[in-house]
Amino acid sequence: MDAQHHLLSELSLKIHSNPELGFKEVKAAAWITQYLEENSFSIERGICELSTAFRGSYGQGKPAIAILAEYDALPKLGHACGHNLIAASAAGAAVASKPAIDQFGGSILCIGTPAEELHGGKAIMADRGVFDNLDIAMIVHPGTHDIATIQSLAAAALEIEFFGKAAHAATRPETGINALEAMLQSFAAINSLRQHIKDKARIHGIITHGGEAANVVPDYSAGTFLVRAEDDAYLSELQQKVINCFIGAATATGARLEYKWAGICYEAMRNNITLARLFRQNVKSLGREMQLSNPNKSFGSTDMGNVSQLVPSIHPSVAIAPVHVAIHSPQFASAAASEAGIQGLLDAAKALALTVTDLVANPEILTKVKEEFQQQK
Ligand SMILES: [Zn+2]
Ligand SMILES: [Zn+2]
Repeated sequence: MDAQHHLLSELSLKIHSNPELGFKEVKAAAWITQYLEENSFSIERGICELSTAFRGSYGQGKPAIAILAEYDALPKLGHACGHNLIAASAAGAAVASKPAIDQFGGSILCIGTPAEELHGGKAIMADRGVFDNLDIAMIVHPGTHDIATIQSLAAAALEIEFFGKAAHAATRPETGINALEAMLQSFAAINSLRQHIKDKARIHGIITHGGEAANVVPDYSAGTFLVRAEDDAYLSELQQKVINCFIGAATATGARLEYKWAGICYEAMRNNITLARLFRQNVKSLGREMQLSNPNKSFGSTDMGNVSQLVPSIHPSVAIAPVHVAIHSPQFASAAASEAGIQGLLDAAKALALTVTDLVANPEILTKVKEEFQQQK
């Protein structure tokens, strides 16, 4: 792993300085697969009918252990989620796992999963069966804390449109139907609803279209929203309550409502604690103390949640920036190219490779991991 240090930091910095948005990560996918190929992995590109998804594999048969790579960036902010570090740590860990696979058997896979931000690439790939025959799936995300498990919320994305009727806003307002007012009333209704939803649930949105001119009654408004909840059952209950807010606003204003739930839902993360403890022990051997769960209880959503419902999974976080730095901020983008970022990448990769080694060398650990997974179902 130390011999790969320079190659991995170079790979990660190259991706950082060439940020590509979800499903357009052409350069990143090419560089990661090239690195894997040069290290004797066989590569399948464009899997799951996604041009920037890939699977690199080494060894054969069971256990099949996958380390997942993300490499998409954010609009305007670049790598403010640090996915360049995830990419290099996944590829580095897969390569560093080779000696263990040679000695004990099984296979190590590095699966390239595009478009984590907003599009849920892993959710699409899960539907298309790519995770079905795996025994383990792991990914490490950079953050501001060292934590072995994450709590992530189930999430669904909603697109809203209101259709009204244009009119001169001063001379003939009585003939207009105001689509913008319908949108504003929806926000008010959602704000009222928010008082009476369960802890950890989240509803947030933006207006993407609010009219053309101040002297014209807006005949069209549009927005996008995210609804999140701790589990799938409450998410679907909340989804209906949110839709009722829009229906109420449509009734009140006379505007016509059209809505569409995006095809992809992010599922809640099911952390495998046996696996998380093992990872934590390995990262500790590198001098990094990691808590088992987050004392600050902050929640986002990740498409790794969808994977974790199918395969025993972990999604630990390695600290690369001080706690006051927010993920998805320009400061975090700088941290993703900093020395602390590279250190996080290397620690993550080493601990992942050590964990793979433990799993292939000790079948009884793998059995325990799987038993826990079955019990959680
Ligand atoms: Zn992100
Ligand atoms: Zn991320």
